[in-house]
Amino acid sequence: MGTVANAVPIDHYVAFLTRVLDEEERWAREASRTSLRDTRVDVTRVDGTSDGEHWTWECNRCDATVVPDPVEDEFLECPACGSYSVSLRSVEGYVHRSPYSDDSELPLPSFLIHTAEEVPPPFGGYLLRQSPARVLARIDAARRIVKMYDAISCGHDDEALGMLADVIETLVVVGCAEEWRDAPESSE
Ligand SMILES: [Zn+2]
Repeated sequence: MGTVANAVPIDHYVAFLTRVLDEEERWAREASRTSLRDTRVDVTRVDGTSDGEHWTWECNRCDATVVPDPVEDEFLECPACGSYSVSLRSVEGYVHRSPYSDDSELPLPSFLIHTAEEVPPPFGGYLLRQSPARVLARIDAARRIVKMYDAISCGHDDEALGMLADVIETLVVVGCAEEWRDAPESSE
């Protein structure tokens, strides 16, 4: 394995990055399991395209979707009824079957935040942008870069290897700056 411009060996970056990606992925997957943690009933997820949830704000009074605007509005506000009471829900639906009541075949969202009022739109929109599905996609992209590095390092294309090493270094030193500062590899 080669090294990049500074003294940190590239395999330290790869190991560190893999650890960070594993941890991020664990949080994103666990954040997608709120409904599935209901132990009182059988819960089945439906209409999901992947196991990372997409999140949305919806009105608690009429269930309309509330789309945050980071600049225009003071608070998240229902476009249909004007209510400031909103909840953070999954776009994906879940069917709940309980032995104690009639089966419900109607998929319900997972409620991440049941009731919130006067939510500042920049904060509300920022949360949506951290939806697990989005985070998992970014993790996947970074893992593909690491895989490319592994594949090329088995061959003899030194130029491509050097460029990918720089990309991985950037993902760590710039993309994970705060975590990298505290990592044992950064001071070795
Ligand atoms: Zn409404």
